[in-house]
Amino acid sequence: MKFTDSHCHLDDNCFSQQLPDLLSQCDLHNISRIIIPSISPDNFQKVLSLTKQHHQNPIDLYCTLGIHPWFIKHLSISDLEKLSLLIIQEKQHIVGIGEIGLDGATSKHAAQFGQTPEENFKQQQLFFDYQLNLAQRNAMPVIIHHRQSHHHIVPFLKHYQLAKSGIIHGFTGSYQQAKDYIDLGFKLGVGSSISFSRAKKTINTFKRLPIEYLVLETDAPSMPLSHEIESNSTKLYQNNSSKSPANSPLNIPVIFQLLVNITGVDPLVLANQLERNVDDIFLT
Ligand SMILES: [Zn+2]
Repeated sequence: MKFTDSHCHLDDNCFSQQLPDLLSQCDLHNISRIIIPSISPDNFQKVLSLTKQHHQNPIDLYCTLGIHPWFIKHLSISDLEKLSLLIIQEKQHIVGIGEIGLDGATSKHAAQFGQTPEENFKQQQLFFDYQLNLAQRNAMPVIIHHRQSHHHIVPFLKHYQLAKSGIIHGFTGSYQQAKDYIDLGFKLGVGSSISFSRAKKTINTFKRLPIEYLVLETDAPSMPLSHEIESNSTKLYQNNSSKSPANSPLNIPVIFQLLVNITGVDPLVLANQLERNVDDIFLT
């Protein structure tokens, strides 16, 4: 069995010291591929250089370039134009555009950075639209961040009908919301949310969906697993007697096991299908 972490912020400083060790541990636990989404112009070069350094060394790292809705407040159209150029220059080193998206909760707190909620959401939509357009022009898939925003995101995706579609990262929501995305060719990222017994709606959604539409992700170092579940990353870092990040790609097998329990599908069949789903989006 091989696994892919389809969404991990491996460029985060909390991983830098332990990176060689962490990647060897991933190799040992059959996590053979990690996709690193960028979040703002500040980390474009870092995710690119990580990806270039690690080609089957010891595992494969891939990256996507994009601007996350949380990090747009000091940016302007010229940053999007720079992104557009970088995507053309680095095309052979990136597998998609992301992470991009719309966040309804962030815009509610926009006053902190001197915007009204409406101004902020308008700017989010402009950045999202521009980057979906980039994906269309470059025939690339997208990685989409959502929070309180399914009803805003779906009309954009219907408008663009991206040939390569993409991933709805850290999906939480109802079966109908999931269906809206998969009808547009998207896959859904299954992450730590399923480790929380209170996430009944999302767990029921994954139970009902065909496994052809799912991919695994950790979103590490964010989105730690529920305390009810034992985390692999904590175990590793305890062994090394250094401070552990809240989440790491080593938790992929834990999330996988939870998904086996939810779907009732044979582990080998499920693992193979999840890998094929990643290939379908990023590597074909
Ligand atoms: Zn993320």
